[in-house]
Amino acid sequence: MIAALYIRVSTADQAEKGYSLETQLSENRQKASELGATSFVEFIDDGYSGEYIDRPALSQLRDGLERKEFDMVVIYDPDRLARNLAHQLIITDEIEKSGAKLLFVSVTFEESPEGKLFYSMRGAISAYEKEKIKERTTRGKKGKARQGKLVNNGRCFGYDYDKVNSMYIINEAQAAIVRQIFDLCIKDKLGTALISKKLNNDCIPAPRGNQWIVSSIHRILTNTAYRGVIYSMRQKSTKTGFSTRRIEIRPESDWIPIKVPAIVDEITWHTAQKQLQSNKNFAKRNLKYDHLLAGLVYCARCGKKMSIKHSGNSSDRISYYTCLTQVSTSYIYLENEKCTARRIPSLILDELVWTKLCELAGNTKLITQYTQDASNPIATANIKNTLSKLKETEKKINTQKETILRWFRQQIINGGDAEKQLDEISKQLIEIEITKKSLENELTFLAPQTSVADIAINIKKHFKDTQYYRDDERRVAIRAVLDKVAVERIDTTFARNSKPEFTVNLKFL
Ligand SMILES: [Zn+2]
Repeated sequence: MIAALYIRVSTADQAEKGYSLETQLSENRQKASELGATSFVEFIDDGYSGEYIDRPALSQLRDGLERKEFDMVVIYDPDRLARNLAHQLIITDEIEKSGAKLLFVSVTFEESPEGKLFYSMRGAISAYEKEKIKERTTRGKKGKARQGKLVNNGRCFGYDYDKVNSMYIINEAQAAIVRQIFDLCIKDKLGTALISKKLNNDCIPAPRGNQWIVSSIHRILTNTAYRGVIYSMRQKSTKTGFSTRRIEIRPESDWIPIKVPAIVDEITWHTAQKQLQSNKNFAKRNLKYDHLLAGLVYCARCGKKMSIKHSGNSSDRISYYTCLTQVSTSYIYLENEKCTARRIPSLILDELVWTKLCELAGNTKLITQYTQDASNPIATANIKNTLSKLKETEKKINTQKETILRWFRQQIINGGDAEKQLDEISKQLIEIEITKKSLENELTFLAPQTSVADIAINIKKHFKDTQYYRDDERRVAIRAVLDKVAVERIDTTFARNSKPEFTVNLKFL
């Protein structure tokens, strides 16, 4: 690393210790070598005032800077460069522009009022300059675009770039491939994946010598250049961080159209857009109608989502809802976090849930039970278990009560004993009654916030004449009332045709 050391001493300075030629020289050298300089070029203005910028050594330094000869410039403080701030800023700017690092030796400089002013002025000026440059380039680009010239000489498949006129010229070999891609899309109605596959199979050269990929096909089919127009000033990029930018699309009124040579005609281009849109709709429809519960199914064992996974070949394909831990690539290396829940054939679960919902639609009592079960299956089950035990006890005690009364009527026991026992029994019954009440309260608390009546109304509304529903209508109905299905396969059979059994919990909105 080459360091330029600049030293200036005026006749007046000589008296001051810190500014002597030797001190400056040795301190500059030390600072430079600390920072990794391996060779030094010294520029010494001995006996020059800092008032004028025209000094022999300084001029040599500035010439060297222009030739980008140095990696760093070391100066005792900016005062050595010049007496006034404007001159200091000019020279430090030149240093920066040459790509050299600017270093001051004086540690007190930064803290001094002059130092603070120097740095804040530098900051302000560089911010101002950046704005200026940005404005100038945007304006320059706009002006160029208005003259019908291309602004970015970015390469575009199908064209060569004519630097002199800032314009594309058709590259016939590549243009033929572009036309072929449009043909494959429109005439053969191939999707982007199949087009890229075919081009790779036929060894058709792709842009920049790569393989054809779906996104490059899509880019070609949607690029307006091929129908003869490029829109300039379409995007705006804003710096959002140190190395990040945000790309925004400007309003269409700001776009500047630039005419370029067309490779396909307007009708071909627009037909391709239509075809792309219809491919997209078709793909969506497939995704939508295939699986009634896609996105709603959760693994009851681990709580993670279950996603669709296919098995078998395309003609004999079975789809399963499979726990995410067994499918997602993020679990590949987390063997012990993989859930052991079995996959669920989607057709069977879809039908099961659909039937259940249709059943519920006309039965508020069933809905009540389901809303409670689904809100917190374990707690609800525990409470119900306790409740049913309490009811049994209550029954037994009541039988006991009957027996005592019968014994009393048959005079097997006397009035005093009977009263004592009946008293004991009624105390127990009251106790049971209180416990029952509080448990029933808890059950309603566990139920979802939406009232059962509201849920019933909602289900009824979406589940009318369900036998006539198409798949897409079924999907809409299900999503209107259900936000979660928790499922786990409970049978332990593995025979191919055994009927799977599940526990299914529906969670309503
Ligand atoms: Zn799981």
